[in-house]
Formats: sequence, C-alpha cells, structure tokens
Amino acid sequence: MHLSDKIEALPKTSAITTSRLKSLQIETIEDFINYFPSRYVDYSTIVAISNLKHYFNPADDELKKVSVKGTVVSIKNEYTRRGFRLQKAVISDGSGEIEVVWFNQQYLLSIIHTGDMLALSGTVKFDRMGYSINPLEYEVIAGSKQLIHTCTIVPIYSEKVGLSSRTIREKMFSVLPMIEEKISALCPDKLAKKHNLIQADEAYRSIHFPMSFEKLESSRKRLGFDELFVLHLNSQIIRQRWQSAHVIEGFSFDEKDKAQIKKFTASLPFTLTGAQQRAVDDIFSDLAKTYPANRLLQGDVGSGKTIVGALGAYATKLAGFKTLLMAPTEILAFQHYESIRKLFKKEDISIALYTGSQKASASELEKADMIIGTHALIGSKFKSDRVGLVIIDEQHKFGVAQRMEFKGKAGMPHHLSMTATPIPRTVTLTLYGELDISIIDEFPPGRTLIKSHVVPLAKREACYEWIVTQIKQEKSQVFLVCPLIDESESETLKDVKAAKFEFEKLSKGPFKGLSVGLLHGRLKSKEKESIMNDFSAGKIDILISTPVVEVGVDIPNATIIVIEAAERFGLAQLHQLRGRVGRGEKKSYCYVFTEKVDDTILKRLQFFTKTSDGFALAEFDLKSRGSGDIFGLKQHGLSRLRLASYTDFELSKKARDAASSFLKTDVLEKYPRLYNKITEFENEKVSND
Ligand code: ADP
Ligand code: MG
Repeated sequence: MHLSDKIEALPKTSAITTSRLKSLQIETIEDFINYFPSRYVDYSTIVAISNLKHYFNPADDELKKVSVKGTVVSIKNEYTRRGFRLQKAVISDGSGEIEVVWFNQQYLLSIIHTGDMLALSGTVKFDRMGYSINPLEYEVIAGSKQLIHTCTIVPIYSEKVGLSSRTIREKMFSVLPMIEEKISALCPDKLAKKHNLIQADEAYRSIHFPMSFEKLESSRKRLGFDELFVLHLNSQIIRQRWQSAHVIEGFSFDEKDKAQIKKFTASLPFTLTGAQQRAVDDIFSDLAKTYPANRLLQGDVGSGKTIVGALGAYATKLAGFKTLLMAPTEILAFQHYESIRKLFKKEDISIALYTGSQKASASELEKADMIIGTHALIGSKFKSDRVGLVIIDEQHKFGVAQRMEFKGKAGMPHHLSMTATPIPRTVTLTLYGELDISIIDEFPPGRTLIKSHVVPLAKREACYEWIVTQIKQEKSQVFLVCPLIDESESETLKDVKAAKFEFEKLSKGPFKGLSVGLLHGRLKSKEKESIMNDFSAGKIDILISTPVVEVGVDIPNATIIVIEAAERFGLAQLHQLRGRVGRGEKKSYCYVFTEKVDDTILKRLQFFTKTSDGFALAEFDLKSRGSGDIFGLKQHGLSRLRLASYTDFELSKKARDAASSFLKTDVLEKYPRLYNKITEFENEKVSND
C-alpha cells in the first residue's frame, strides 16, 4: 500500500466507515496517518488480580489506570429490574478472581467467550464484591498478536461523525505496517537530523503507537517541527519575494528634507516617546530600501501609532511619492483625516479623504500627497504609479482578499500595517516571520492606569448604582459591551438581538431617566454616525454596543466601560475593549461582569484586571487556551498547530534554521507535497503581503 492510495484501500473497512473518514477530509492513506491521537492513556501497568488493592486510591483525582490479564471463567447477560442489561464476566489469573461488569453492551458476548484469554484495562474499584476493575478497554488475547487497546500506552482519537476511537486505532494499527515506502514528512529528514530529531517514518509510527513516553515526545517533536518548518518556510519565501521585487527607487532624503522632518516633529504639540521615535526610525530606514518594506507596527490602543504613520507619510511626500492610508471604518478614516490634518500645515502635505460617503474627486486624489480612506478606495478609479507607502490601520480588521486587492491597486510600494492586537512575540516570529516588526511598548506620558474589577452577579446592582452616581455627579460617560453570543470575530444577528435586549432591560431598569444609546453593526452608517456624534457631544450617557462593533472615535470623556459575560472573550480582546476608555485626563474604570463562579475563569479575569500590558495578556491567552484563541487568528485553520506549540521557542528556532538551509540548498519544486502545502497555506494565511 502507498501513502497516495485512496482511503478505500483500507483493509476490511465498511463503506460507512470510509464515508465517515471522508467527511473528516481524510481522502488518502496519507491523510489518515495524519489524523493524530488527541491524547494517550497509560495502561501499561499490568497487575496481578490479588494485587489490585494496592492500586486503589479513591482520594486521587486521577485514578490510577491498570491492566489485568486472565482467563474468562464465565460471561453472561443479566437483566436489572429497570430493564437494563448487564454483561458480567468472571476473570481469573491464577492469583485471584474478579467479576467485571459492563452496561448495555450485549455484543460483547459474541466477542468474548468462556475460556478466552482476556486483557482488561481501566481503573480499580472497590465494592461489596471486593476489588475489581472498571473495564474501560478490553481485548481478547490471540496468540502473540500485539495488544493495542490494553496493557500499553493507548492512543485516544477524537471521536467524530460516529467513528469510535477504537475503530480508528484498529485501522491505524493495521495500515501502518502495510505502507511500503518510508514515510516522509514535509521537512526532509536530512534537515531534521541536523537538529537531532528522529526520522519521520519512526515518528509517524510512534505518534500512533508509542512504546514509551520518551518515544512519544521525540515523535511529537519531529512532527511538530515539521508544522513549524512549513510556517517558517512560507514566511521566508514571502520575504525573499519582497526583497527581490526591486520595484522601488530607494527614497533619498537630503539635508533639507531631514531638517524639514525635524522642524515638523518639533512643531507637534507633544514630544514623541522613545518607542515612537524608534518606530519612526525603523520606517525611515525602510523607505531608503530599494525593495518594498513590509513592516508591522504593533502598539496598544492609545500608544500613538497614528503620528508614526503620519511621519512616514510626510517623509514619503518629501521624497516625491504619495501615501495611501486605509482604515477599516468610515468613522476611523474620518478621525484620521481630521487629526492628521490638524498636525500639518496646508503647505506641508495635502490630504484627501475617500470613503463610501465622502469621495474626493479624481483631481483631488491626483493632487493629494496623502489619501485617507476605507476599502471604498479599492473600488475607486484612482490609479497612480507614484504611491510610495501604503499604510493599513487595524490590519486585522481587513480580510485577506481586501488587502490583496488594495495591494493590487497600489502596486508594490512600501507597506506598513498597524495593529493594536498584541500578538505574542513567539507567534509573530513563527507565523509572521516575513514581517519586520516595530513595537510601541510605551504610552505617552500622563496616562493613568484604568482601574479594573471583576464584578460577580451579587455585586451587579451595586455596580449599576455606582455608575449612575458617577454619571450624575461626575458627568461620566459609559460604554456597555454586550456578551459575545457566537464566538466569532464579526457581528452576528444574535449579537444584535442580545444588545437590543440589554438596551431595553437597562434603559427601563437601572438606567431609567438617563440617556441610553444603542450601537450595532446593522444600523445604517448615517445612524451610526449620528449616535457616535451624540455620544461624543455628551448627549448620550451610556452607549450600549454589540461586542465587536467598531467605535473608532476617541471619547475622552468616557471613563467607564462595562463588559458583560466577560468570560466569553479572550483576554487580549478584553484589553482591546478596555482601551476605549482612559483616553482623557480623568480616572477610568473597567468592570468585567461574569456570572460564572468557575475558578479558572475567575483567575483568568483577575489576571486581566491586574495586567495592563497587552502582550502579557496575549501570552496568557496563548498558554492557557492555545493559539486558536489569539484574537485575529481564530478563523485561520492552517495557523493552528496540532503537535507543536507557539510557545515552544526552541523547536521553532530549529525549524527556522531548517527553513533557511532548505532555501539555500534545495528547490521547492522537487517536493510536490511541500509545494502544495506552501501554496495552500499562502492562500489562506493572514499575511499582509
Ligand atoms: P493609537 O495607537 O491607538 O492609534 P493614537 O495615534 O490615536 O493611538 O494616539 C492616541 C492619542 O495620543 C492621540 O490623541 C494622540 O494625539 C496622542 N499622542 C500620540 N503620541 C503622543 C505623545 N508622544 N505624547 C502625548 N500624546 C500623544
Ligand atoms: Mg489607531
């Protein structure tokens, strides 16, 4: 049998099983062996029946798993008074006898017969019949046939679409020895070997049927390395492509330009923070390159990314090129337009706005040094070969397709993406290795910490009352964020419904007599704008919103944010929401509501309330909930690692080295599987190339 054979080639497999496997996207034998166990149970301790008592410890959280082997003295069905059927067997191993009971598994009588040698694995139990075993797995011992369900480290496969773990295990065990070729991984063995990793063939066999936990670990390492290798290789290929694009003339700044930039920086109403200055320097050095730069600027909400982008635009103008800045929403585009225009004098730089509802004319676009807009810009007739810099704000808010289109529009200029999403460093290095990163890890001075608290159900009313007092006495304004109904990054109809419900309830209840507004994504953009304007002007006291609706504008007077059902959010996401307040001089507060009393949830939320560093929060999410929960990565299946982890820095480094040696000495086209994987990955990956 070969890896490329269709799944129908599995021996002794019914059509139903085959079709179930297919529904899990398992089409070939290769796909099948890539269906890895989700966990393992250690049944390798084999105990004599007379010794079972030594393994009984009900106080243990995790009951000890053991196995016994013996002869079936008898096996029969028994009916309980309630109509259940029990299967009772007596097993003897010479040292003693036990009775073993199954529930409603009549078919066992056609598999297990009196006189058979039987292996049983499970936990030890004690009742009026004495010590016995809860039979979690059984296996009839036939000659020297290797035991796979009992008496060893047993792989557990996640049971989906009606396929049992036992069935998958049996099929896997029978098919592995039948594969004629040496099983290879995507990363050639010779590269893995340099890093003391085992061969892929051995790793594939051991990941399914490990002889020891050491073997399992070395297999996991080898195959996890492979996953990371693909990510790194992809990044490095993209990076190479950018660097060989050479379409840009390196901007050269003469002394006059430099003096002008200096003068402009000095004219700002504030001094740049050290971190902002470093980011600006990074961008200036990007602009001098002869290949297009591809930089990600990460910085918390309020860390001052806009001015960094604006300085990039100014330098680009001085070099004689245009800058395009694309924002995810009209509100945000407009806010950038207003605030950047305020920073510059008219003769410094001319700026045009282009959104769905406010479209600069073709000649204005042609004249402008900087065009600020939304994705509407993609559909516009605007076309210029003088675009030198493209800035995408809040890049994670755009779909891959949108960014590609935007890129197509602008040609291949320098690229700067800005995001407030704190992606942990270990993730950026692995997943976004093609990007250069600048991080603004410092706030402008004078910013006070947002006081954050977890509010349990019992304290909710008191919290509402306190909020009402703050509104009345301090003229505070409040954001109230509704629960995330579906774990999705875009707004669903259910989210809107929940927000409407909350709005009705609260405006008639605790917030009666106050001015309460409702904001959600299904409102027309005019309505949204008018609500935001009212909130901004202080005409609305409390703004209730769906969890993911973009508020966009700065509301310095909003000092309180309440987040409902906070346990449903990732910490990084909560942090993002918290950033809506604390933008003014006044002290700000963040209240996270939860009805859950679960310890892990409370610990997570408490960590959030004590931590103001977005990267630390993202790192916490990564460690406690895995990469699937990192804000912005959720829907990208390919970035989900199955065996490796983004926190495994050592392994990732090895994979990166392997990827660069590969690029130096080999060609992708020689490895069709790897080639396909990389292409597939590139199409789906969130990347801002
Ligand atoms: P974000 O990183 O969230 O995009 P902004 O660029 O909108 O942040 O900046 C937030 C606020 O901080 C703005 O009002 C901006 O004018 C102000 N700001 C930016 N840099 C500084 C600085 N170095 N000192 C003081 N205020 C600053
Ligand atoms: Mg911003």
